[in-house]
Amino acid sequence: MRIAVLSDIHANLPALEAVVSDLPSVDQVWVLGDTVGYGPQPNEVITTLQAMGARAVLGNHDGAAIGMVDAKDFNPDARTAIEWTAETIDANTRAYIATLPEVRRDGDLTAVHGSPRDPIWEYITGPDVAAANLDAFDTRLCLFGHTHLPVAYRAVDGRVEGTHGLPGKTMRLNGARALLNPGSVGQPRDGMSDAAYAILDTNGNPDTDTFEFRRVRYDIDRTQRLMREVGLPGRLAERLSYGR
Ligand code: ZN
Repeated sequence: MRIAVLSDIHANLPALEAVVSDLPSVDQVWVLGDTVGYGPQPNEVITTLQAMGARAVLGNHDGAAIGMVDAKDFNPDARTAIEWTAETIDANTRAYIATLPEVRRDGDLTAVHGSPRDPIWEYITGPDVAAANLDAFDTRLCLFGHTHLPVAYRAVDGRVEGTHGLPGKTMRLNGARALLNPGSVGQPRDGMSDAAYAILDTNGNPDTDTFEFRRVRYDIDRTQRLMREVGLPGRLAERLSYGR
């Protein structure tokens, strides 16, 4: 089974469209939250995911957009953007977000936005935090997002190893339990502006599972123009050029 893993799309439709045209043939699409917030096209992104039959979870920005999650800890730009998002989303987007689970489980996979022990808010920022989360899910693999950084944490011989997800890198999971982050489609923060996503390939034998980190160029100018047109904070548009 081949699964496309997308996270933190953040209402960036040009980035999502570039990923969709880059996708190899896959059996499923999983989306790890923060589908809206920051970017200019929340409704268009949601209808695109609905058309793809994506299996999504709730992120902090998604919850804040419909008033389910408190935005008091958001920085000023994020808060301005979430207020704009809350006014802009239509009934379909609102209803879609309201049905999203915080945790999704299927077979060998658990999916969350932040971490399995705190799905909405915790950032898995390093091997120590990843190790502290190993007991908080009981499947072999856990997909997560939230940090906007592509990385794989594998449990090997009682400790956790982190590997940065360089573009084009295919990680062999070698049957280990692992926490896997594809990076961000719509607002990468690892110093590269290309949209990030990943392909998880499982074929029934855990020893040969792979997780491939992929990047794809998209029309950043178009997203930035739209953001300025609707009055979203300039810094949120500018950062897309730098991947920070
Ligand atoms: Zn995010």
